[in-house]
Amino acid sequence: MPNPITPETAVDVLVVDDDPVQGAIVSGVCTKLGYRPRFASSYHQAAEHLANGRFDYITIDLSLGDHDGIELLRLIAQTEAKPRRIIIISGCEERILNATVRMAHAVGMLDTISLPKPIDLALLRVALSPFQEAAASRRGVDARLSEITVDDLRRGLDSGEVYAAFQPKIDLATGKVTGCEALARWDSARFGPVGPDVFIPLAEQGGLIKAMTLRMLRDSMTFAASFLPTEPKFVVAVNLSASLLSDTSLPEEVERLLAEIGVPARSLMIEVTETTAMADVGRAMDVLLRLRLKGIGISMDDFGTGYSSLSALARMPFSELKIDRSFVKDCLTDADMWKIVSSSVAIAHQYNMKVVAEGIEDAATWHALDALGCDIGQGFEFSRALRSDAFVDWYRTWTARGPAVRGDAAIPLRREA
Ligand code: C2E
Ligand code: MG
Ligand code: MG
Repeated sequence: MPNPITPETAVDVLVVDDDPVQGAIVSGVCTKLGYRPRFASSYHQAAEHLANGRFDYITIDLSLGDHDGIELLRLIAQTEAKPRRIIIISGCEERILNATVRMAHAVGMLDTISLPKPIDLALLRVALSPFQEAAASRRGVDARLSEITVDDLRRGLDSGEVYAAFQPKIDLATGKVTGCEALARWDSARFGPVGPDVFIPLAEQGGLIKAMTLRMLRDSMTFAASFLPTEPKFVVAVNLSASLLSDTSLPEEVERLLAEIGVPARSLMIEVTETTAMADVGRAMDVLLRLRLKGIGISMDDFGTGYSSLSALARMPFSELKIDRSFVKDCLTDADMWKIVSSSVAIAHQYNMKVVAEGIEDAATWHALDALGCDIGQGFEFSRALRSDAFVDWYRTWTARGPAVRGDAAIPLRREA
């Protein structure tokens, strides 16, 4: 039975289709689920609804008479109150549908999916189902997060609420742990868990990013030091944001920190995105080259997501390439993604770089990437990012499996952050 509708819990759906029969079918499914559908038979009607309301779901028919669904997607991307999910319904060929979904992802509408026409009502119900309860709480969370200030973050840093969690990196051929990536976490007493997508930009704006990164580096290198006696090749990766790449004093500060903690330079990998590296090429080159000369590894993060990936690859002294998880995620089901992943592996090897695949979520992807020659993997298949003590527990369980059982999910792994 659908939940009773109250103003707080109501799920609003905008159904956009120039065919009134299709529109009525989709709206009917929404009503049966207990949602509130609004119907728009044209781009202009949809634009009017978007200007006046907020929607949890939007279903879009790609061909809309005088306008097309792409124009509507562009308009939605510009609206402030983004829907939780967009469902594109179309009878056009699969490649166009896939490319449309990717375009929506690229403009920030990450939960966009497609359904073929003629529409399968069971599939539509599944696509519409997950957020019945989430809609109301999401509004609360969005409102709560928008209240966070730089001072809150400063207090969080000072009180130890911000910390480094570590996500393992695995040698895909042997299943051995090669190291980990340090990911910043903020468990705020006032706001609950806050994601790095929220607080890293805040740290940048509020001038806290250097202090935060130095803290991450210190925690990471202390963590590496505890692993080196058993894993001498253990490497911890730390993310560096754009403003720090133009800080030419950084290589010496990092070197001093390594000496103080007593960790060799090869135990540190610095991750930068190509967008970061290309923002101020001259200074970034200066900083990255000096870090490399000191023996620190440099990894190109989120490879393929910016506009100058190949140019950055050719010009900058990277030692590792990380294929973005948006390509890895669907690489077994989407031939276009597979082509990107396989050519990224080939090109990285031509530059004598190790290749890391981010976002491996199942054993099948692990094996396929291993067969392709991808060196290292990271993703929920192995573990989420863990606090240091939980990482040590996870490491013991994982290594106890031995190299022969790679990809075997027999041992329950710890997947909580
Ligand atoms: P990133 O450096 O590309 O980090 C990888 C992100 O992918 C992490 O998200 C990680 O939790 C997520 N991830 C890893 N495996 C999987 C998987 O199998 N499936 C899925 N769905 N996700 C997976 P997280 O921790 O939310 O971090 C997001 C971004 O925030 C990072 O992307 C990085 O750009 C930034 N970030 C995190 N910590 C720091 C930091 O200390 N300093 C800076 N400057 N940026 C940071
Ligand atoms: Mg990273
Ligand atoms: Mg990445």
